[in-house]
Amino acid sequence: MTLGLDLDFGRLPTLERRALWPGTTKQNDGRGAEQGPAAGGSAGAEPGLSGRELRIAAAIAEAAMPPGRFLGGAGAETASRLSGWLSAIPPHLGQGLRAALWALELAPVPIRLRPLSALPLEERMEVLRGFEQSRTRALRALLKAVLTPLRFLHFDRPEMFKHVGCRYELPTVRDEEPRWLAQVTNGREIEEDLELECEVLVIGTGAGGAAAAYELASRGHAVLMLEEGDYHRRSSFTGRPARAYRDMYRDHGLDVALGNVAIPVFAGRAVGGSTVINSGTCYRAPERTFASWREGMGLPAEFSSEGLAPYYERVEQMLQVAPADPLHLGAIGPIIRRGAERLGYQHGPLVRNAPDCDGQGLCCFGCPTGAKRSTDVSYVPEALKRGAQLITAAHVRTIDIVAGRARGATATLGSDVSAAGRASKGTRRRPRLVVRAEAVVVAGGALMTPLLLRRSGACLPSGMLGKNLSIHPASKVMALFDERIDQWQGIPQGYQIDHFADEGLMFEGGSLPFDVAALAVPWTGHRYTELMERYPHLATFGFMIKDTSRGEVRPGLGGSPLVLYTMNQEDTAKMQRGIELLCEVFLAAGARRVLPLVAGCDEVNSPADLERLRARQIRAGDLDVAAFHPLGTCRIGVDPRSSCLGPDHQAHDVAGLYVCDGSAIPSSLGVNPQMTIMAMSLRAAQIIGERLST
Ligand SMILES: Cc1cc2nc3c(=O)[nH]c(=O)nc-3n(C[C@H](O)[C@H](O)[C@H](O)COP(=O)(O)OP(=O)(O)OC[C@H]3O[C@@H](n4cnc5c(N)ncnc54)[C@H](O)[C@@H]3O)c2cc1C
Ligand code: SF4
Repeated sequence: MTLGLDLDFGRLPTLERRALWPGTTKQNDGRGAEQGPAAGGSAGAEPGLSGRELRIAAAIAEAAMPPGRFLGGAGAETASRLSGWLSAIPPHLGQGLRAALWALELAPVPIRLRPLSALPLEERMEVLRGFEQSRTRALRALLKAVLTPLRFLHFDRPEMFKHVGCRYELPTVRDEEPRWLAQVTNGREIEEDLELECEVLVIGTGAGGAAAAYELASRGHAVLMLEEGDYHRRSSFTGRPARAYRDMYRDHGLDVALGNVAIPVFAGRAVGGSTVINSGTCYRAPERTFASWREGMGLPAEFSSEGLAPYYERVEQMLQVAPADPLHLGAIGPIIRRGAERLGYQHGPLVRNAPDCDGQGLCCFGCPTGAKRSTDVSYVPEALKRGAQLITAAHVRTIDIVAGRARGATATLGSDVSAAGRASKGTRRRPRLVVRAEAVVVAGGALMTPLLLRRSGACLPSGMLGKNLSIHPASKVMALFDERIDQWQGIPQGYQIDHFADEGLMFEGGSLPFDVAALAVPWTGHRYTELMERYPHLATFGFMIKDTSRGEVRPGLGGSPLVLYTMNQEDTAKMQRGIELLCEVFLAAGARRVLPLVAGCDEVNSPADLERLRARQIRAGDLDVAAFHPLGTCRIGVDPRSSCLGPDHQAHDVAGLYVCDGSAIPSSLGVNPQMTIMAMSLRAAQIIGERLST
């Protein structure tokens, strides 16, 4: 598939021709430039595991993943791979993992008088089984922290994939070289400090930033986009999750919200932001959500289904939104249809932004066919064709604010981790980029935007910056069927049950590639391997809730976000209901065994098991939760005492500073957010454009 772009040769000011923009461009003398590693980066490699740590990791791997009938077991080689992997991740994350390793090693000492690695294999397996089943949430979390990379590294091998009959890697395609690429500058290739001028600076190129840049460039404004991540072309999308986590996910996908349950929170770090790695599901937010914004927060009438309809329509056109093709739903579509039909639940194909999708099953790791209209193949190229410029590997450190007005921003260029994923050593000073602009649009996403604004001293008066975090907590249920499922084939998230949307429960497919499924199975030992050997018969389906709990994002170690989130009782009960309903659907569809992924409840294989699950009051810490939709950490509102931005997305306290991303969304939406972020961003960009033109 080609990108199919209609090039406009007349309007391509390149970086060399930047004098076309108002103002001047000059080389900076570098005084005052930042020294050392960029925040958010990982300069200074973690040295890997010591000899003792290697032995501990090998002992855990061996007991957690023993050999099966045809799958090989884990052990010393897995530990050595872990050691190599540690040297490629940010040091503070590596240190956390080593601490977890030691905690597991020492945990058996009080009872067994010996550390874990000194125990014979059978006893080690028994101990791990005890951790896995423990009522102590922290112990299970430590086990998960250590097993996650070990499992991933063990299964991420061609021979493992071959054993279960699924494809390991796609052939690399040749990238096209459209003209608009001349508008893109790789920040790693800039060696000297630089100063640029533009009319509008857009920080971040995900759902919000790319839509805003497109709208403003379409209106004839000189737009510069700065993006911390790289521009990955189709040749990078080889279907290897390990590569995607390393190159396209923030912090290698290792950010975790801390609270009464540890929740991995995922976000993208690439041109296209999280849209590069998202599932492509497209929803308009429901009117009941907008009504709560108007009635509860006093937002104006424009925040309604009707008021935002023109913007949604334009987004749908750009993303080519349409229902998933039934031909590419994979086996999970008919299974969910069968179960939901028998129970009388409303269901159907999901609406998506991938018109030519042929079900490669890899949406969350970069679409290899270019079918998914993430912003790197839609809004960003269209903005570039309209004269915008883009600098990649540009991490914005601060917004420059003079006399209460945003005047531009300062960024560090280049990055900590090279394209090959190796951490660069030392503290080489990175070039600094200073941008002068008439308006600044921040679109770093709900995890990073509050950190940038805090560093810049903006949006602080209400005390709400970083707070009000909603995440749409999500979980899944797995089930074994007699029939083959082959969940790596077909659209991973192509089917839905929307029967319970009014309750704030959305069920959406969540098929997993082999090595990612290996992380989801909560068991250890022989029963773990047995289940993984049955992967071709294993189905996965997911759901998310409209949460009422609220968390917070604070500055964390090494520039990463520290995410805090405690799930309240109401949401925990909603999660339990979601799991029960999904177990019921799988049973109705004829599953042999159903795995609810709840601590203390291994399987739900009969109506009686289901009743037992219903009778139990699950605690948040018993759940297996993940989050993909952080929102609300710099929310819009009418009252500067309780919000950071006005309804026009401008900061209450800094003129010319706008926020157009998930952080501006004032509450949990109840549906996947990308279209709403884009629609609200188009609306805000229209306002900014009108202001700049008067
Ligand atoms: C795995 C996954 C699956 C998902 N599936 C769906 C789905 O099916 N449907 C749906 O609607 N939504 C989905 N989402 C959510 C959706 O993609 C996001 O809500 C949306 O992309 C958020 O848009 P944003 O503009 O707020 O931030 P992002 O899209 O995350 O973009 C922010 C960008 O800003 C950059 N940035 C941050 N800080 C700086 C800085 N200081 N300097 C320079 N650049 C910076 C980041 O590198 C990033 O590229 C999914 C998300 C994930 C992670
Ligand atoms: S399922 Fe479709 S959209 Fe997803 S990666 Fe495959 S081709 Fe792309």
